[in-house]
Amino acid sequence: MVRSLELKLSPAEAADPVRIQQVCARQLRCPAQELQVVVRRRSVDARKGDPKMVLLVDVYRNSQPPAEARLLDDVPAPTGPKVIVVGAGPAGYFAALELILLGLCPVVVERGKDTRSRRYDLRSLMQDHLVHPHSNYCFGEGGAGTYSDGKLYTRSDKRGDTQRVLKMLVECGARSDILQDTHPHIGSNKLPGVVENLRATLLRYGAEIHFEQPVVDLIIQGDQLLGVRSNDQEFLGQAVILATGHSARDIFELLERRAVTMEAKPFALGLRIEHPQALIDEIQYRQSPRDPHLPASSYRLACQVEERGVYSFCMCPGGLMVPAATAPGEIVVNGMSMSGRNSRWANSGIVVEVGAADWAQHSGPLAAMRLQQSIEQKAFAGSQQAPAARLTDYLQGRVSQSLPASSYVPGLHCADLDQILPPAISSALRQGLEHFCGRLKGFHSQEAVVVGVESRTSSPIRIPREAAGLFHPQWRNLYPCGEGPGYAGGILSAAMDGQRVARAVARDLKSEV
Ligand SMILES: Cc1cc2nc3c(=O)[nH]c(=O)nc-3n(C[C@H](O)[C@H](O)[C@H](O)COP(=O)(O)OP(=O)(O)OC[C@H]3O[C@@H](n4cnc5c(N)ncnc54)[C@H](O)[C@@H]3O)c2cc1C
Repeated sequence: MVRSLELKLSPAEAADPVRIQQVCARQLRCPAQELQVVVRRRSVDARKGDPKMVLLVDVYRNSQPPAEARLLDDVPAPTGPKVIVVGAGPAGYFAALELILLGLCPVVVERGKDTRSRRYDLRSLMQDHLVHPHSNYCFGEGGAGTYSDGKLYTRSDKRGDTQRVLKMLVECGARSDILQDTHPHIGSNKLPGVVENLRATLLRYGAEIHFEQPVVDLIIQGDQLLGVRSNDQEFLGQAVILATGHSARDIFELLERRAVTMEAKPFALGLRIEHPQALIDEIQYRQSPRDPHLPASSYRLACQVEERGVYSFCMCPGGLMVPAATAPGEIVVNGMSMSGRNSRWANSGIVVEVGAADWAQHSGPLAAMRLQQSIEQKAFAGSQQAPAARLTDYLQGRVSQSLPASSYVPGLHCADLDQILPPAISSALRQGLEHFCGRLKGFHSQEAVVVGVESRTSSPIRIPREAAGLFHPQWRNLYPCGEGPGYAGGILSAAMDGQRVARAVARDLKSEV
């Protein structure tokens, strides 16, 4: 017999399997030893009083939970045609995995290095302020997701099977609690290992993976797209999946040169805000220090100002701010965390929607990207030190004279952020922040710092694709994929888009035979 129960427990009880079993036994009025309990969902309810954990559990009485079928075991070696996958981010790797499951042979071409080698370049970015143009927080194996917070939730879960991606990640070494948590995350200390296991799985089933091969051109013969070219190699295949992410400006420029249709796309832009984590715990849990069984608390904020959305983006509880520039001479900040989310800080992007009126001084399909790039360049003052102000000063329009301690390793400097962000964006951002300070008591704090610039929220370009076939309208075998062409926003949705595109490629190639 299986019964599903909802349990509301203290954080300590929820962390104790024996206690969970006892609570189920009491509710079902039967001996605990007859029960096997499987936690299906876990979330925090901190709305009032002491925070509680809410568990959805399946209880099996005198029977065993069914064994879960594994997805990546005993896959037959693919024998189908080669498909070029440009980019080894979540979209590219999950597309490659799906191609294998569908019997096709992926050839992954990646500009950056494998996860381990990438680490040395991140260190020199942090310590020496050197931005390697092919190996940084956005470029390299695993893409922008490898050294991230590893949050694994999406609002676009209708576009694919989120559980399938999560199960594959678990088979590649992620902790199984990502299958249960309402807000699962992996963390930067665990993600590289998961990505390495993904790579090992791909190689085991016959994929080719080429690192340090930035794609610089498309190989076109007449009206046929044959493949892609790096500086020293050609990669030929029957289809090309372009999964190069939203930071590959050289790819957008290449597509423009090759007259591939694209259009400028609205995105969001702003600052990153950092508070002490203890302060956010105090606000959200009314506890400081928080119960050790509770996860670091987070927030999600949104409002409408001057007909623009202002919202928090990619909140990283217990995390660190990191330099996410992809070229020298620009400043971009983002956030990441370790699996324990145990740093002293909580950071989040606070961003404003940007539309066509904001990039009116630029023209063509790259106009929004040029606006984004110009703001990142304005934020640069000779090193990866990022421009910053205390929240309290920023809201008053003042330049700070000093800054609180921060997690940002390259360092912060006091700056006039109004000189960096366009006036309309600054105005909306300030009003949005005022609103959030009113919503969360304590958010308005001398200890909070705002840092420029949070600019890589989503792609500033849309590369169109046919609704049914997912290929580009001009090239029957070019498949824009993931976040770069505007079809995903985050690790999970990029991975799901990779799977979707791989299925479309398989369908198209089979129908051609
Ligand atoms: C610091 C940080 C933290 C983040 N935290 C989270 C989070 O917690 N949760 C979340 O959901 N999302 C997070 N994101 C965003 C997330 O990483 C992206 O949404 C996701 O990785 C997009 O996947 P993608 O495969 O479409 O593109 P990407 O991950 O950008 O991958 C594109 C790949 O293409 C390669 N490439 C680019 N140009 C070329 C070329 N010319 N030739 C060959 N290869 C090329 C790149 O090197 C890269 O490996 C974070 C991003 C950053 C930078």
